[in-house]
Amino acid sequence: MGLNEKLYDPLELSRSVESLVTRVSGGSVERKYFRFRGGRWYGGIASADVIGCNLRCRFCWAWYFRDRHDLGFFLSPEKVFERLSEIALKRGYRYLRLTGGEPTIAKEHLLEILRLSETSRFVFIVETNGILIGADPTYAKELSRFNNIYVRVSFKGTNPQEFTKLTGATPTGFELQLRALRNLLDSGLIPGRDFGVAAMIGFSPDENVARFVTTLSSIDERLVTDIDWEYVLTYPHVMKLLSRYNLKPIRTYKPDEVKE
Ligand code: SF4
Repeated sequence: MGLNEKLYDPLELSRSVESLVTRVSGGSVERKYFRFRGGRWYGGIASADVIGCNLRCRFCWAWYFRDRHDLGFFLSPEKVFERLSEIALKRGYRYLRLTGGEPTIAKEHLLEILRLSETSRFVFIVETNGILIGADPTYAKELSRFNNIYVRVSFKGTNPQEFTKLTGATPTGFELQLRALRNLLDSGLIPGRDFGVAAMIGFSPDENVARFVTTLSSIDERLVTDIDWEYVLTYPHVMKLLSRYNLKPIRTYKPDEVKE
């Protein structure tokens, strides 16, 4: 890794990563997982960390397993739902999620997990960078059929230049993130109720943050009412990654300061 890496296209990366982290077995699409755990985010959530992402964020806390396609274990959607429910039931959680890498890679796998969770009492948080939802309007349509999900689109920086600096990807990826919001709106999902915006602003000057808010409100004013601002988590392994790229965050929080 280094500063002179060639920019990559997140959609091309999606395709190659999908082929490494999925397989068809017994009629269902299985995906590779790193681990399952409970956690205090969202007031208590059962989480499954997936392997594989279509970005390579330089502040990513999951980078040490994110691209380790040789690690982990394949699971069917049924097994994933079963394991998440077990954790949630045991600990009295209301929420389930896939996290770690990018959950929207392996669309059929994700949609099947959502179908299974729809009949449960849990709410499923779809954490995503939005790239694939921006590239494929049918993805947003399919997500809109579920009434127990909340889609959290997490922006990597506040503009195309910051996006490229933070991810090493082509700046078109930022436009896809914005397009994800438009596709979700066009599918009838309601900002604040069904989906919302998060944004990594750990490297963003105030004026860029202000411009980003203006951009969002020009799409829909409801998008700016409750933005989840993300700062850099100063885990030692994250700081190590940042130093490789000579990136110095201006907004951080220590892992034990994280809001829950
Ligand atoms: S999108 Fe998320 S999981 Fe993927 S590299 Fe960026 S921070 Fe890590």
